[in-house]
Amino acid sequence: MTRKHNFSAGPAALPQAVLARAQEEMLDWHGKGLSIMEMSHRSQEFVSVAETAEQDLRDLLDIPANYKVLFLQGGATSQFGMVPMNLLRGAATADYIDTGIWSGKAIEEAARYTRVGLVASSKAENYTRVPTQAELKLNPAAAYVHYTSNETIGGLEYDYVPETGEVPLVVDMSSDILARPIDVSRYGLIYAGAQKNIGPAGLTVVIVREGLLGNTLAGTPTMFDYKVHADADSMNNTPPTFAWYMTGLVFKWLKEQGGVEGIAKINARKAARLYAAIDGSDFYANPIAPANRSIMNVPFTLADSSLDKLFLERAEAAGLLNLKGHRSVGGMRASIYNAVSEESVDALIAFMQEFERTAG
Ligand SMILES: *Cc1c(COP(=O)(O)O)cnc(C)c1O
Repeated sequence: MTRKHNFSAGPAALPQAVLARAQEEMLDWHGKGLSIMEMSHRSQEFVSVAETAEQDLRDLLDIPANYKVLFLQGGATSQFGMVPMNLLRGAATADYIDTGIWSGKAIEEAARYTRVGLVASSKAENYTRVPTQAELKLNPAAAYVHYTSNETIGGLEYDYVPETGEVPLVVDMSSDILARPIDVSRYGLIYAGAQKNIGPAGLTVVIVREGLLGNTLAGTPTMFDYKVHADADSMNNTPPTFAWYMTGLVFKWLKEQGGVEGIAKINARKAARLYAAIDGSDFYANPIAPANRSIMNVPFTLADSSLDKLFLERAEAAGLLNLKGHRSVGGMRASIYNAVSEESVDALIAFMQEFERTAG
């Protein structure tokens, strides 16, 4: 068996050690004679898996006690609707910052429930940078301010946390949660689909300040009410038990890497080397303002786009998978989440240099 270098944007690479552990435990979890997938979510065994995963996430992100951690389904896309349903709390408007495709989708969904205040947008600059704090036209009457900390498709990441005063800050952190330390107390709510930087698809993590719960829009379905999930320890109905278990294994693995501080150093090295390789060549290019370049998703184009197909073919033959850029932007994209090793990034850089030499 050879594991290849996987640069998938999501569902994305998982740590090999986590997959191996799951394989070991697959048929007989901890000597119980059955797999974790075959147990009741209410069993003592699964409840301990669930609680350990939550505690490990609390440790990793230093989550304050007045925040609930929810393990939900429906992906980040469901959060686009759940956020306004739960957090409008009678206000007539909510503020959004537009930095690309994912923030755009969040805005579109929120507009079904409220008047959206567009605080700032970098659309006119083709989303090549993040609006600065000084550019944010914040409305103190807004229910909350929403932004997308990392635009997974554009490869654009905030280099600061917006300051919103008394107005709760909400972030879609789907593709850069756990990539570097954050101060959870700056946020009212953080959400992230698991399949980029947390675990397998099927699980969505929400971290929410308790005081924001319990005032949903009339008609909100029970399953879309955060308080219902908070009160039921995310077991109001059957949760995605296997994804939750796998996520718990990823959290343990992250702790072994020195936690979020440890992985942040590795992520910084990976991104710096890859961007340096792109910038050091006339053959490859990345359009994003250096301060706002994503450390997780690195899009790049070839100077001669007629070579794109050959690049992808040779990359695949060399064991480098999933480098095709998103259909909306074209070119290439290397997603280098936590589970993508420095060796994989170095293999990509060596391949790019070789390709430039032989095909350029
Ligand atoms: C992938 C992604 C989403 C959508 O996630 P789903 O789990 O497919 O709903 C939303 N926002 C960001 C930033 C993403 O990267």
